[in-house]
Amino acid sequence: MARFLSSKLHIPYVIVGTAPSMDGYASVVSPLIVDGVKTTFEAVYPLAIVADLDIMKAAPMPMLRAGLGDILGKYTALADWHLAHVLQEEYFCETVEKLVRTAVGKCEMVAERLHLRENNTIESLTEALILSGLAIGMVGVSRPASGEEHHLSHCWEMMTMNRGKTTPWLHGNNVGVGVGIIAEAYKYLRTLDIEKVFESGKYLNLDKDQWKGHLTKVYGRSAPTIISFKEGSLSFDELERKGNMVRIKTHWKELIKLSRLLVPEPEAIRDTLKIAGAIDTPQQLGLDRETFRDSLIAAKDIRKRYGVLQLLEDVGLLEEAANHITGIYYSEPASLDDSVVFV
Ligand SMILES: [Zn+2]
Repeated sequence: MARFLSSKLHIPYVIVGTAPSMDGYASVVSPLIVDGVKTTFEAVYPLAIVADLDIMKAAPMPMLRAGLGDILGKYTALADWHLAHVLQEEYFCETVEKLVRTAVGKCEMVAERLHLRENNTIESLTEALILSGLAIGMVGVSRPASGEEHHLSHCWEMMTMNRGKTTPWLHGNNVGVGVGIIAEAYKYLRTLDIEKVFESGKYLNLDKDQWKGHLTKVYGRSAPTIISFKEGSLSFDELERKGNMVRIKTHWKELIKLSRLLVPEPEAIRDTLKIAGAIDTPQQLGLDRETFRDSLIAAKDIRKRYGVLQLLEDVGLLEEAANHITGIYYSEPASLDDSVVFV
């Protein structure tokens, strides 16, 4: 709020950090909830950030764990950024990517020591969180810091609020859970035989009324805003969908290679969270099975940004992927056997 007002009123501001719980310190944007919709407004950098380690390390443990969750989110954010670069020719910066990846790796290594609140652990976490914000400023978009794991987090936040409920969990806790889920989406992608998916023709149809109905179920009163925001950037036309699919098929090997290279196994993500004492499942966030499955289908539509969930929709398998991932988290036998499209 202060950042937003600072930008509107042209009054500089300074941040005094009290917890390494999220990466908004050095951010140039201000995410605010307007009429139930999480909206990102352009804003300005702070004049200075003061992060005294003696104060930062004394923050409540759930906030330190949230900071780790937000940092782990960079794995899938960077992978989504790569996807967008390959498929949508979106601007990509290798230097910024390396910078963020190095910071994430450092935090992952200290996860098991988080509870000890040692200076170097808290320093690594704080530095990574500040750097992640700076990275956004360097490329002018939040790509290096936020991908579909953040869309899931925003979606859950909006669903909770629109249903008149509250949650004890912080942004970074949501994101941490989201990273494991998006890593599952990437893993699912790697099981697909793209030639068979292409032959099946399933990707050709995306029913607009069904899409609108689903968003209305998930977002309630915020749905009309989201629908009118997203409608124009989705392909409902068969020819257009075929064109998208041909482009995806052409780049498929590269996409799978990127996914293998950039996205850790979902089990590894969940282990890192567990080892730090952080939550790692949607049940712990209070999401029932149906709400969780619905969110997997609707999360991507709060932004126009390309990521793995949009890719799954483009190949006509978002619902199947959502069922599969729901099965993994809600202890049902994972079924990959209902279709001919798997490797
Ligand atoms: Zn975040």
